[in-house]
Amino acid sequence: MTTLTSQDYIQLEHEFGAHNYHPLPVVLQKGKGVFVWDVEGKKYYDFLSAYSAVNQGHCHPKIIKALRKQAKKLTLTSRAFYNDCLGKYEKYITELLGYDKVLPMNSGAEGVESALKLCRRWAYEKKGIPENEAKIVVCDGNFHGRTITIVSMSTDPSSFKGFGPFTPGFIVVPYNDIEALKKALEEPHVAGFLVEPIQGEAGVFVPDSGYLKKAWDLCRKKNILFIADEVQTGLARTGKMLACNHEDVRPDILILGKALSGGVLPVSAMLADNDIMLCIKPGEHGSTFGGNPLACKVAIASLKVLVDEKLAENAEKLGAIFREELKTYERDHDMVELVRGKGLLNAIVIKPKNGKTAWDVCVALMNNGLLAKPTHDHIIRFAPPLVITEDQIMEAVDIIKDTLDSFK
Ligand code: PLP
Repeated sequence: MTTLTSQDYIQLEHEFGAHNYHPLPVVLQKGKGVFVWDVEGKKYYDFLSAYSAVNQGHCHPKIIKALRKQAKKLTLTSRAFYNDCLGKYEKYITELLGYDKVLPMNSGAEGVESALKLCRRWAYEKKGIPENEAKIVVCDGNFHGRTITIVSMSTDPSSFKGFGPFTPGFIVVPYNDIEALKKALEEPHVAGFLVEPIQGEAGVFVPDSGYLKKAWDLCRKKNILFIADEVQTGLARTGKMLACNHEDVRPDILILGKALSGGVLPVSAMLADNDIMLCIKPGEHGSTFGGNPLACKVAIASLKVLVDEKLAENAEKLGAIFREELKTYERDHDMVELVRGKGLLNAIVIKPKNGKTAWDVCVALMNNGLLAKPTHDHIIRFAPPLVITEDQIMEAVDIIKDTLDSFK
């Protein structure tokens, strides 16, 4: 059998796959903890963590053990029948996060779609908004996924352009602008406010301290549902189990995905209390794979790893060190405009120099053994698995500094 090279694998994808991504030219074959290896055996720090899905590190032994054990027993029943894993998972996650109920789905986008449906249903059933009139307020620069309805709320042309006609019923306000939100909430028939506690895909925009709390208070006063999309910020990434915890905000609807499975399977969830969640009745929403036994066991194991290994605390501590190191460095490099983030969700804003952009920096980082990906041309997100140690983060900082030095 002939051994394929990285170039061969890249060519295969190019020839037979849709061209809906633009990956860095690295072909990965193996992962363990904070590291991944390419097909030629070169080792890299993974500073993307599959967009924060691999918070627990690659192939965490406890998660893989749970996966293997359940895979041999029962993987899928559909929700036409009960299974002996779903109820236990539902009890575990609702008790852990403090909600009455959970609705299990698969991708993050499905979690968001579910939340939009639930919010609208609640608006008609409980709030008395006339049928088909409900509005949901969303933020400029949002990223909530790729479905038609979700891109209908997007303000990023690369997400929505050429995909119309769009789903109506959204009001867009600037992010981190409490006055604009206040005004929008005065409009007739507003049912919900959907927000990312930190805008991840937009480039790790951290709102001013107090913004989420004020927004939550406004929503409560007006009987409007505060819906937090914590698909990327959730599950220990920002230094707390939820990014909303930083401001003691308890969303009416909470959306989770990504790290809910430690990067093993698509597992998402929407959590809410009875008064809201029970507005959806049997037969009105669901998914063939949502709540499958394999996903349930993997999700319990993934959540337990976050708690047992104190990964939120680690993210808080090492994130502060990481930002401090890069902020000090920022002052003597004209290509580094800004360093920002929370916990281990961080980014640097790159000012192009001599035609060199964030993409060129990422290619150089890759050559030096660290994988990160630009978002929006000029921003590089740094989000390593949360199992990273202090020594490893310092080694990574050295790689980043050395790489940036080469552009001086
Ligand atoms: N919501 C947020 C905040 C995200 O960052 C993402 C993905 O990056 C999604 C939703 C969509 O998740 P998925 O790609 O699993 O559909």
